[in-house]
Amino acid sequence: MAGIVLWRFGRIFFLFLAGVSLLLCVAAAGLWVRSYAAAQNVYRRSAQSTLIAAVSRGECGVLILGDGEGGLNSTGDGAADWEWSREPSSDLLEVPAGYFPEAPPPVAGFFFSRVVGSVDSRMMILLPMGFVVTLTALLPLSAAVSIRRLRAKRRRLSAGCCPGCGYDCRATPGRCSECGRVFAAAGAGGAAAELQARTPAPPSERQNAVPD
Ligand SMILES: [Zn+2]
Repeated sequence: MAGIVLWRFGRIFFLFLAGVSLLLCVAAAGLWVRSYAAAQNVYRRSAQSTLIAAVSRGECGVLILGDGEGGLNSTGDGAADWEWSREPSSDLLEVPAGYFPEAPPPVAGFFFSRVVGSVDSRMMILLPMGFVVTLTALLPLSAAVSIRRLRAKRRRLSAGCCPGCGYDCRATPGRCSECGRVFAAAGAGGAAAELQARTPAPPSERQNAVPD
């Protein structure tokens, strides 16, 4: 029983994360398309540092310029000033050469460098928007696949078929004579049937797993 509750909770959490990821994916895709027409920039300025987050020409990046060693992570001053601006699009891949002349140039749109000195500090990360969109699409896609699979299993169960291989088990309810899977037949409790459908019991437990 605890296993079923835990599985249900885990599944709801997974679907929630997938939903959030889907929203991020759609937002990133929108920004990606718009980034060729204009750059979207966000500035955060405080006494010790300036953060610039930008999406432009299919790239997104964050550049932090700070004072000395503490500049990169100065968050405690409380007087940060935020600003959003739309600017003509520019090639973000050209920015590293100016701020990080020592660092290797971006590769396939990816760049990361960090310089911490006693007088000033700098950090920059660049990612292609295609990578961001793909990354945020992974979770929603896997959720869609798992929902499809679960529906197929439920359909098979309610038709009296094996949830695993689809073999007609009406003659031997709860047990598949084709693949040997033991499952709770339709009507024998939704959640239990679901869990059984998801996890084939190991052979040693199969005798005990037959409902009633
Ligand atoms: Zn089967």
